Amino acid sequence: MIIDFHTHAADLRLPGEMNREPVTLEKLINRLDEENIDKAVLMPVNVSPEICQAPLFFSPGSDILSQLEAAAGFSDRLILFGNLDPRMGCYGNLTKNQILKPPTTDFTPFLQRFKELGCVGIGEIVANLPVDDFRVINLFQQCGEWDMPVLFHCTGPGEGVYGLYDEVGLPRLEKLLVNAPNTIVVGHAPGFWSEISGDITPENKFIYPQGSIINEGSLQRLLREYPNLYADISAISGFNAISRDREYGVRFLTEFQNRLLFGTDVCFADEEGKMPHLSFLKNLLSTKQISRSIFNKITCDNALTIMKLL
Ligand SMILES: [Zn+2]
Repeated sequence: MIIDFHTHAADLRLPGEMNREPVTLEKLINRLDEENIDKAVLMPVNVSPEICQAPLFFSPGSDILSQLEAAAGFSDRLILFGNLDPRMGCYGNLTKNQILKPPTTDFTPFLQRFKELGCVGIGEIVANLPVDDFRVINLFQQCGEWDMPVLFHCTGPGEGVYGLYDEVGLPRLEKLLVNAPNTIVVGHAPGFWSEISGDITPENKFIYPQGSIINEGSLQRLLREYPNLYADISAISGFNAISRDREYGVRFLTEFQNRLLFGTDVCFADEEGKMPHLSFLKNLLSTKQISRSIFNKITCDNALTIMKLL
């Protein structure tokens, strides 16, 4: 079985991209059929303002419940995630004693409802907050208590785009991992994958750095030290990281074979939106650069394990 661990079905066009073709549920299923992918993890969008563009904002059925209810019609192919923003929740007026230390949000009612709706994880988190913000740590800790892995988009450093942000060396991610040891944390996106190389600068954390990987980055150190950290190879960022230095990429896939998840993050249904990840992995398999067992773990078994579906 092959599982695409990172998909969306929503209008993700920017106002200047109205010629692109949004992914609908039907188009998502068609793509899975075309690529011989058995199942996909569907992550609803539209919980954080940073990623909500006008096309999505005015798109009917774009609330979380509608997205999940529509996806439930394809339960043989889609595995559902819920989604949340760490800033959600409000206690109303604070008491005198709470003013200096306001309470953190209790996400129980959200997580309980997501479980009832069949969701097995939460993501992708796209709020533009520091990875170690107390609200982020609070949400991730509670997801762990509910046995739900959390996938986040990592950017950085600083504010201004979507995704949790971090500095060079991922110090904030390390703080999150220390503070939420019982939560499966799945990282993704440029701010995460650029850290595969040790020669990173603040500028190239936002992009897709090229070239051989001479010195390992903080990503490998964190994967070795924190068993609750996983990595989703989706999107250009993940593909670039594992393919920019093919020889090193194979070593990376081999060492971290128990912690990597194949995904695509296809955001558009047109030809241009297609992603090369699966054919790349299949090529490594057919040329015997990775074993069948590594291929199976990355494309399926690791996903089933962290979603507790084995
Ligand atoms: Zn995504």
